[in-house]
Amino acid sequence: MKIAVVEGDGIGREVIPVALRVLKEFLPDADYFPVEVGYDKWERTGYACTGNEIDALKSADIILFGAVTTPPDPDYRSIVLQIRHELDLYANVRPVHGDNFDIVIVRENTEGMYSGIEWTESDRACTVRVITKKGCTRIAQFACRITKQRKHLTIGNKANVLKSDSLFREICLKEAAAAGIMCSTQYIDALALDILMRPENYDVIVTTNIFGDILSDVSAYLVGGLGLIPSANIGSRYALFEPVHGSAPDIAGQNIANPIAAVRSTALLLDHVKMPDEAKMIRDAIQNTISKGFTTPDLGGKCSTDQTGKKILDELRAIRRTA
Ligand code: ATP
Repeated sequence: MKIAVVEGDGIGREVIPVALRVLKEFLPDADYFPVEVGYDKWERTGYACTGNEIDALKSADIILFGAVTTPPDPDYRSIVLQIRHELDLYANVRPVHGDNFDIVIVRENTEGMYSGIEWTESDRACTVRVITKKGCTRIAQFACRITKQRKHLTIGNKANVLKSDSLFREICLKEAAAAGIMCSTQYIDALALDILMRPENYDVIVTTNIFGDILSDVSAYLVGGLGLIPSANIGSRYALFEPVHGSAPDIAGQNIANPIAAVRSTALLLDHVKMPDEAKMIRDAIQNTISKGFTTPDLGGKCSTDQTGKKILDELRAIRRTA
């Protein structure tokens, strides 16, 4: 198995080495190779991600990704969007799990507000929100496949205002009916409040690109912050696993970033390659680490990134010994 490892910028360089050590416990013989992309590379070379890097990513079976900084520079094109488009990673899956709730947010990842069609004129700037039948159908079918193993699908939308969301909602309802799953629809603004007040009412949620982006950051509140939530970006051919958080330049270089979101991303990776028992061991090791108080400052602890990572590894090895 070929695994491309992209540390990227900022805290990506601190949390990915921790995640990699954990992953190598279960996949020691995989062919790991680094791919350098990001803002640091752009500053040094003038390129954040060239065709060579895209080809390298495409040569991998799996990609483990840290985070890249997107500066407010008009000449800089977001490489996260570039990679999602080039590799057609159309489904972004973000599990949010707590004591009395277990939610999976499925976000369309290639269209909507992030379609990349935008321009600036003298007195206005325009971004085109593109929603296609093909895009809706495949993300709806993806969400329905996940819901089949679970209970209920909520379609987050703003169809009362946006024609593009009417199309999205209509196609999701059609696919849910065809798949025979229970489903309901909810306006995204009401959903953003309700997920915080009654998270136990939700199971799988499917929504469009920017709404899913915002909803998953909002729901980070339920679990203690951005340092905890992993994500999977899945296409028909490629798969990329990354923490939901960004490069967090404010805390980069201090060895205090929480590595748990990155390590949980390796559990999603193992689920993807059909190693669910091993994925569960990683999740249990993280749970033990948190329960025993080995946490970084964002969770109120005093441990460094490396100390937290070492504790997760120790817990994982202890779990494996007794398995
Ligand atoms: P970017 O421009 O790369 O998106 P950002 O700082 O705007 O970076 P995030 O990286 O998502 O966005 O971080 C938002 C805030 O959340 C950061 O300022 C940081 O304090 C906190 N944060 C994010 N990830 C972590 C983490 N792994 N551990 C601790 N704090 C984190």
